[in-house]
Amino acid sequence: MLDYIIRGGQVVTAGGVGSWDVGIQGEKIVAITETGRLTSDVGRVIDASGKVVVPGGIEPHAHVAAPIMGHAGMETAPPDQVSRAALFGGTTTIVDFAIQYPGIDIFQAIDERHGRWRGNAYADYTYHCMLLGDIPAAVMAQIPQVIEAGFPTFKIFTTNIRPNVYDRMARLGHMGAVMEEVAANNGLMVVHAEDDDIVQFLYTRLKEQGTYDWTNMHRAHTNMSEDISFRRVIRAAEWTGAAVYFVHVSAKEGVQAIREARGKGLPIYGETLHNYVSFTADDYQKSNGMKYHTYPSLKSEEDRQALWQGLLQGDLHTMATDEYCTTFALKIEGKEIDNVTGGHNGCETRMGITFTEGVAQRGMSLEQFVAITSTNAARLLGLYPRKGAIAPGSDADVVLIDPNVHKTLRMADLHISDYSIWEGWEIHGWPILTMLRGKVVVEDDRLLSELGSGQCIPRKIDPLMLTRPMC
Ligand SMILES: [Zn+2]
Repeated sequence: MLDYIIRGGQVVTAGGVGSWDVGIQGEKIVAITETGRLTSDVGRVIDASGKVVVPGGIEPHAHVAAPIMGHAGMETAPPDQVSRAALFGGTTTIVDFAIQYPGIDIFQAIDERHGRWRGNAYADYTYHCMLLGDIPAAVMAQIPQVIEAGFPTFKIFTTNIRPNVYDRMARLGHMGAVMEEVAANNGLMVVHAEDDDIVQFLYTRLKEQGTYDWTNMHRAHTNMSEDISFRRVIRAAEWTGAAVYFVHVSAKEGVQAIREARGKGLPIYGETLHNYVSFTADDYQKSNGMKYHTYPSLKSEEDRQALWQGLLQGDLHTMATDEYCTTFALKIEGKEIDNVTGGHNGCETRMGITFTEGVAQRGMSLEQFVAITSTNAARLLGLYPRKGAIAPGSDADVVLIDPNVHKTLRMADLHISDYSIWEGWEIHGWPILTMLRGKVVVEDDRLLSELGSGQCIPRKIDPLMLTRPMC
C-alpha cells in the first residue's frame, strides 16, 4: 500500500526527465515507473500532469536567527519564519551556520543552534560550522569529531568585510591549518573570499574621497579583490589537499578562477546568489537601492552574464540566497558602505526565480535547474542521496512546479518579511505543492505542516566529491 502516487508529471531524476509516476510510502520515495504502472492501493493520487516534479530545494547558505552586524541584540528572522517561507517556495532543507564565537567551542556552537531550531522548524535543516578570526588550537582539534558528528563543512572568511571589524578574518596561516585538518577528515571548506588588504584600503580611500554612500559598495568590494583572494585560497587548497566551496561568487573573475582550478582537476566549487544573477551595481542607484545589497557586492552587467554562463556551463554549482531576513526599515537603515545591512530575504523566491530566469528565459535544462537548486548542494554538503534526488530510497521531499504560472510577483504571494527585491518581477513558473518526508506541507497556498516537524539531518560527504570536480 502506497501513501501517495504523484501521477503523470514531468519528473526530473538523475537518470533523465520523463513522464513518470512517483510512489511514496512513509517518508520515502519507493518507486518511479511509467505512468499508470503503479496500481496498488494508494492513500492519495496527486495529479501532476502539466507540472514539473523536482526534488525539494536545498538552501545551502542561510543566516537564521543570526546577530545583525552593527545592531547589538538584534537578530535576523528565526527558524519558524524562514523555514515556513522556504516550504512555500519549494525549499525543504535549509543550511544555517553554527558560529564558534571566541570563548565557545564548535560543539557548544552546534548546541546553541539546536536550541534555536529544535521544535521551531517547518523544514529540515543543518548547519555549517563557522570559524572566526584566530582559530584556537583546541577548536582546531575538534574538527575530526565534529565531522564525525555529521557536520562536515567549515566556513571561514578571508576578510573582515567592513572597517573596524577585527574578529572575522582567518589569516592565511590559520586558513591553511584548518584546510589541512578538514581535508584529512573528509570535510569541505566553505569560504567567503575577498582580499582584506584591498577591501580595507578602498574603504579608507572612498572615505577620503567623499564617496562613501552605499552606491559605492562595488568600489570597495571589487572584482580585483575577488580575483586575487580566490586564487590565493585555491593555491592554499592545492597545497593542503582541501576541497573548497566558494560562497556568493559575484564577479566574472571568480567564475574564471574556479573554472581554471577545475580544469586542473581540483575539487573547487562555486555558489552564486539569485540576487547576483538578477541585479547589478546599477541598481544601487535606485531609490533605497541598498535593499539590493548582499556582501561582497553586486557587480556589472558583464559579471551578471558571466554568472549565468557559469551556472549554465557547470562552473558554478549552486544557487543560494545568503538568507539574512530583516524588516525593510532595517534593510535600508544603513546608508554608507560601512553600515549597509547585507543579505536579504530570498529563501522563498529562490526556486521560482531560478526557474523563471534559468529555465523559462535562458533555456536551462530541467536537469541543470535541479542540479543548482538541490542535487549539487546535497552532494557537496553531504545530504545526498537522502536529499537532493527523486530516487527510490530518498526522502520524499518533492516539489511540483507549475510552468504555466505567469504573473507579476506581489508581496501577497510571499510569506516572510515586509519587502522583497523581487516584488514586481515577472515570473514564469512557480512551486505550487511541497512535500517534506512524505507529507504534503504546502498546497493551494496553505501551510499544512506543524511547527517542529523539521529535523536536523546528519551529513556525510562522498569522498570522491572532495578529491576532484564531481559536479
Ligand atoms: Zn552569508
